[in-house]
Amino acid sequence: MNIKLEEDLAHWDMILEDVKNRSLDFLNHLNDLPTYAPDQRAEAEVLEMNGSGTLKSLEMFREKYQKLMVASPGPRYWGFVTGGATPAAIAGDWLTAVFDQNTQGTKGSGDVSAIVEKETIRLLCQLLGLPEDFNGGFVTGATMSNFTGLAVGRQWAGKKIGVDVSREGMSSEIVVMAATPHSSVIKSLSMLGFGSNNLFKINVLAGREAMDLADLEAKLIEHNGQPIIVNCSAGTVNTVDFDDIAAIVALKEKYSFWLHIDAAFGGFAACSPAHSHLLAGWEQADSITIDCHKWVNVPYDSAVILVRKQHDRLQVETFQNTNAPYLGDPSENFSYLNFLPENSRRFRALPAWFGLVAYGKSGYQWIVENSIARANELGNYITGSVFFELAAPVRLNVVTFRLRGTEETMGFLDQMNKNGKVFMTPTTLDGISCVRAAFVNYRTTAADIVTAINEMEAAYHIVLKH
Ligand SMILES: *Cc1c(COP(=O)(O)O)cnc(C)c1O
Repeated sequence: MNIKLEEDLAHWDMILEDVKNRSLDFLNHLNDLPTYAPDQRAEAEVLEMNGSGTLKSLEMFREKYQKLMVASPGPRYWGFVTGGATPAAIAGDWLTAVFDQNTQGTKGSGDVSAIVEKETIRLLCQLLGLPEDFNGGFVTGATMSNFTGLAVGRQWAGKKIGVDVSREGMSSEIVVMAATPHSSVIKSLSMLGFGSNNLFKINVLAGREAMDLADLEAKLIEHNGQPIIVNCSAGTVNTVDFDDIAAIVALKEKYSFWLHIDAAFGGFAACSPAHSHLLAGWEQADSITIDCHKWVNVPYDSAVILVRKQHDRLQVETFQNTNAPYLGDPSENFSYLNFLPENSRRFRALPAWFGLVAYGKSGYQWIVENSIARANELGNYITGSVFFELAAPVRLNVVTFRLRGTEETMGFLDQMNKNGKVFMTPTTLDGISCVRAAFVNYRTTAADIVTAINEMEAAYHIVLKH
């Protein structure tokens, strides 16, 4: 055996001890680590003939790269929609690497991990109040989840006009409609052969990001006879607006279309009794996207696609990995190999399984409601502030705001982020630059909101020079 491998194998305990200590060092300092690294440059390396061994590599990594890392799993990283990682989830993720299973669930390959994956999907559906009507699988993120749901929708749509898209290729007859789709839906349209330009945009309601249902119905009538996929947003990233799912479901009964719901983070409104009404009717969807590295608070990369069990066959037609025509009942001869885009897959469900089992329904209700409470604290401050104003009401866990009466919002954001205590990201609403703060991390406390408000006011005064 190579000498370095041999040495490493003889020192598992030292290696894992070192990893444990480094992990504790990072996790225990997350509150103080900067949320911004001004200098992200690192010198290029040359691959040595003889390796350094793991202990030395750990040292090298720390010196060279670890200092450039930002506290994105920390309590004041509010950019994008960034979840944290709970202790249970980190435990599951470590073991995922240790067990190193290839989760397919074909006989002899990742059998147990596929069983755990199916079980985790059932637990997740119970958390979200969804019936046992869905099959699901883990993919890398909501982007791949949207891709997968829309791919099965495409197969369904093709069948409506006698085209087996998975075998014969794309049909330009298929229409996709949405009002305020996430950018990853547009990306999926490009990956799936629809073409990102070919989305039929539904009008939004005045001052909202939600669909104007009269316009949706008009477009459904206009395209009568063509197979249609409707992509619905259950939580837009800018204002966390929800399409009226129950009303869309009523239209689905009248006009028949594939209903895909992108509920990447908004689906967790189901955990809060005061907010679950936002999802009314979503159990009637054909496919649903749920991100786990957002509000399940597992490490990257983890998301789920749920597809109605009645569409099993369409899903297998879409992702079948063998050339032989699929025979028999997919649920009897189940393998993830024929259900999802990837073939070889890590034991991705394990961190989510640990999180769900460790914290249960009340734990996730607490995580979700804690985030919502923090968003409202910041929202309430902004409402009463002379410096800032809300760009949209705080509907769930995102605060979108701008500076009052000046165009300096982007300068303000740069100034605030640079200080490394709190991190937010830019967006535009109706063509106006805004700042977004998204609350998705169980670590965030009321004290963090106070810290952030101080940072916001300090940056405001520097940028406006008073
Ligand atoms: C985050 C998000 C996505 C994309 O998710 P990734 O996990 O980054 O792939 C899609 N849709 C919505 C609504 C999101 O919030």
